[in-house]
Amino acid sequence: MNKDNKLFPTCASCPFRWTDRICRKPDGKYPKNCPTVLKKDLCSESLQLLKNNEELLKLARNSAIQEGEGYTNKEKGYEFLRPIKPRIQEIWEFAEKMGYKRLGLAFCVGLRKEAKVVESLLKSKGFEVASVSCKVGRIPKEELGLGEEQKIAPGSFEPMCNPILQSLILNESKTDLNILLGLCVGHDTLFLKFSESPCTILAVKDRVLGHNPLAAIYNIDSYFRWLKK
Ligand code: SF4
Repeated sequence: MNKDNKLFPTCASCPFRWTDRICRKPDGKYPKNCPTVLKKDLCSESLQLLKNNEELLKLARNSAIQEGEGYTNKEKGYEFLRPIKPRIQEIWEFAEKMGYKRLGLAFCVGLRKEAKVVESLLKSKGFEVASVSCKVGRIPKEELGLGEEQKIAPGSFEPMCNPILQSLILNESKTDLNILLGLCVGHDTLFLKFSESPCTILAVKDRVLGHNPLAAIYNIDSYFRWLKK
């Protein structure tokens, strides 16, 4: 990747209204670094990747169908659309559509109560659930070269989170889909690198905001304005 390329995409700061953009309508507006206009080759490649792989096409089709089924009031028009399904329901419905039978649950030990509920919900929908806690293997943090002052509770034994082991165990368990629940920043990165099965994320870790990191973003001009300093 050429990091000096001035035309790298910046869709997040696209200056046009969503409904006026070229990624929404054929005669739409676009900035000079618009990837819809500049990356037509990659766009075709992405479609070919899907069309040449039955499994990927099935994933893409079912994701889009699941997305469409997430709303009611369609017959009344776009303004009346109402979302009706929480993510956990979307996950099990998507897994059913894909024909998955065995699900993996990679959870943070801090969310063990939630993991128990999720496991039982998924089982009640007819899935087998293999679940692995982040502290699996009980490897001391010293193995990572951490000093006492870098532990959560200096002076005591602390097992490291081991997302690679979580992944390897779920790989060995031949899960059809792995669900991440509350893994830390970076631990999720490692898990995703090693998982052989497709993954989805039920929740991410945010110790301060009850695992709702967007609360800081929604309140960026008020209680979380200090983040901008
Ligand atoms: S694809 Fe183009 S028009 Fe769409 S958001 Fe990105 S820059 Fe804007």
